[in-house]
Amino acid sequence: MTKPDMPNPLTEYPQPPFPRQPMSAPGLTGEMTPTPDHGEQSYQGSGRLEGRKALITGGDSGIGRAVAIAFAREGADVAINYLPAEEQDAQEVVKLIEAAGRRAVALPGDITSEDFCQKLVQDAVAGLGGLDILVNNAGKQTAIDSIAELSTEQFDLTFKTNVYALFWITKAAMPHLKAGATIVNTSSIQARHPSPNLLDYAQTKASIVAFTEALAQQVAEKGIRVNAVAPGPYWTPLQPSGGQPQDKIEEFGSEVPMKRPGQPAEIAPLYVFLASKESSYSTGGLFGSTGGMPLS
Ligand code: NAD
Ligand code: MG
Repeated sequence: MTKPDMPNPLTEYPQPPFPRQPMSAPGLTGEMTPTPDHGEQSYQGSGRLEGRKALITGGDSGIGRAVAIAFAREGADVAINYLPAEEQDAQEVVKLIEAAGRRAVALPGDITSEDFCQKLVQDAVAGLGGLDILVNNAGKQTAIDSIAELSTEQFDLTFKTNVYALFWITKAAMPHLKAGATIVNTSSIQARHPSPNLLDYAQTKASIVAFTEALAQQVAEKGIRVNAVAPGPYWTPLQPSGGQPQDKIEEFGSEVPMKRPGQPAEIAPLYVFLASKESSYSTGGLFGSTGGMPLS
């Protein structure tokens, strides 16, 4: 018997096998079986981000959705960016933010454009009335087995989405950030343990670690902190929409010691911690949530 407030993490969430569920990128939450858990029923806020204003890229689904819910329940107003094709997912998140009594700002658009990235930050600042937290979370992952089949077009798009956009958005946000502001970037276990079929993606996630470490040193004197999160396998639309081949989806998460994928609800508290004043001495760090896969 487990205590009600002390569940066993091995059995608390779905375990493989999972059904094959091919979908085209960027994928939609409603097409996933089982439905990911973003903390809709479980996350309880305690005012840790009261009055803060946050921009979350990729805030429509997956990890970004769980972070948006948690931030709103902690008292933050939240702007989310996503692709226009994800409007359905985004509107669900808008409702969840508003249900927490906070302001939601929906900002669709493609972050592979530098012009759009600049407009995104301007619109977030205008819509929220300022900016205190930036969560760079949008990402593109497309598995390709061989370097011979990895096109320059894909290589370019993965870097534009995961690396260039993060630079463009952060650069545009910096003039708006004051002492106490925080930036949280989403890297990956792939930065440390690259999979052979994620040649381009793994490089971008390693880049994000170096970006985080360099920028954290640069802006420490302003009182701005920059950290990165390294998720292991998480159950989100990124994976069945081409992030992994379908045979890997069936066994998704079985490779880590906990033998299951993480659910987005399980990583949102880490973003809350890094965004809030509670982590005031942590900057330039890489924080894992990998189901036991070592980060080093
Ligand atoms: P997700 O598909 O729910 O979120 C990714 C989001 O990126 C999409 O919702 C989409 O809105 C956004 N996006 C992609 N291309 C875009 C573009 N050109 N313009 C604007 N937005 C764009 O999946 P997720 O797993 O929650 O991904 C969030 C982050 O977590 C990503 O950076 C991903 O690399 C990282 N990550 C995920 C896992 C995992 O196993 N799911 C593991 C490690 C790291
Ligand atoms: Mg999405």
